[in-house]
Amino acid sequence: MRIPLRTNGTYETLKSKIDLAELVGQFAELEDCSNTKDCFCPINEQSSKNPAFKIYGDSFYCFSCEARGDVTSFWKLMHDFPTNWDAAQDLARKYSIELPQMDPEARKRYEERRQREEGWAGAAQANHERLLGGSASARKAREYLTQTGDSLRGTGGVSSSAWTQPGSASRFLIGAAAKSTDR
Ligand SMILES: [Zn+2]
Repeated sequence: MRIPLRTNGTYETLKSKIDLAELVGQFAELEDCSNTKDCFCPINEQSSKNPAFKIYGDSFYCFSCEARGDVTSFWKLMHDFPTNWDAAQDLARKYSIELPQMDPEARKRYEERRQREEGWAGAAQANHERLLGGSASARKAREYLTQTGDSLRGTGGVSSSAWTQPGSASRFLIGAAAKSTDR
């Protein structure tokens, strides 16, 4: 999930300096898949028999417990830190990373922003996973997108298959919102 962010804040610093897969790999055995590294969820016990925890570059999503986020979110959930901020300080100590200084007012705004972004990112990621899933409504949504793509061709719109090409749907985070009957 790539939302443009300021690059010098606490969480961006950790995200850029710590390899999420390396960090998760300290707790679970990773499997290399085409676009992801997968493992059994190290945060919560899984009920399913296949690795449900997927790492997409610098973010993760778990199909079992629906945990998601970046290195800091992972660390917070792994060790039950009360806030992202606490998890970030601990991670920074572990990796000897110097975090940028923030005055209390700036930090408060920064934290609020992070919370908003976590909400958006979570919704976008979940919808995207759902679109790629096997439910009837996901198939319908994919058909619809292909048709829409066709009708936009020649008008400078997306090409019909753009969203199905590897990485493309992920890049644009095209998603399908859940119907309440999907769950
Ligand atoms: Zn999980």
